[in-house]
Amino acid sequence: MIDFFDNFTIKINLYMQNLFFFIIISLVSTSTSLDLKTKYNPIVAHRGAWKALNFPENSIASLANAIKLGCKGTEFDVRMTADSVLIVNHDPIYNGLNIEKVNYAELLHFTLSNGEKIPTLEEYLMAGGKKNKLTRLICEIKPSEISKDRGVTIAQKVDSLVKSLKLTSIVDYISFNIDILKTLIRLNPKSHTQYLNGDLTPQEVKSLGISGLDYHHLVFRKNPEWITEAKRLNLALNVWTVNKEEDIDYFLQQGFDLITTNEPELLKVRMNVIKTKP
Ligand code: MG
Repeated sequence: MIDFFDNFTIKINLYMQNLFFFIIISLVSTSTSLDLKTKYNPIVAHRGAWKALNFPENSIASLANAIKLGCKGTEFDVRMTADSVLIVNHDPIYNGLNIEKVNYAELLHFTLSNGEKIPTLEEYLMAGGKKNKLTRLICEIKPSEISKDRGVTIAQKVDSLVKSLKLTSIVDYISFNIDILKTLIRLNPKSHTQYLNGDLTPQEVKSLGISGLDYHHLVFRKNPEWITEAKRLNLALNVWTVNKEEDIDYFLQQGFDLITTNEPELLKVRMNVIKTKP
């Protein structure tokens, strides 16, 4: 009788142990599959992640915040002063000064709203390259308002700076100007380039050797077949500047590689709702 109960207890214990291991293994495999889904990360912070914390756009603070948030990329704009210093700023005019027509020292009479000085591209890239393995630095080279040739010169200088800082593997390039992108491709055929202007078909972009499209969201809404065509041609798909929840959901559902936004925090929230990346 005692043996019977002993055996019964042992069997129950074994059963409970197996059940325990089964539950553990199930939990582990479930969490792994969720992790795989969350690996889809298309967030590109437009001019850095500035809005929620009231940082200035294109500041080192907004760049650092985009990296901290775990964005896939952080975008910024490059211009060149009259004395050939590459700086990061969106508008051609900075505190009433035409950036292309003044020397760098003149820009330093002013600061950004958080007290930072206007960043040089070198300072910006060095900050972006530090302790950063995940977030790509998406460098928009603005065409020169002085001449096309000056735009090409800017591209050459950017290429050589990125190479000298050994950051080619994390810098991608975008531009509205085809000659700027062609120059970057000529100088480094492996560079990732995306065209911004929205006036070329995916096939035309492909034939120029450019690696992707980064078009205004209304361009893709008007030409949804370009999304399919770009995927077929293996072109990267990026879109700007997507801030409304409805638009964010649309481009997540379309499986865009990158979605450029002023609202990286909102995009992060929507990624947990819309899990459709192929
Ligand atoms: Mg830009």
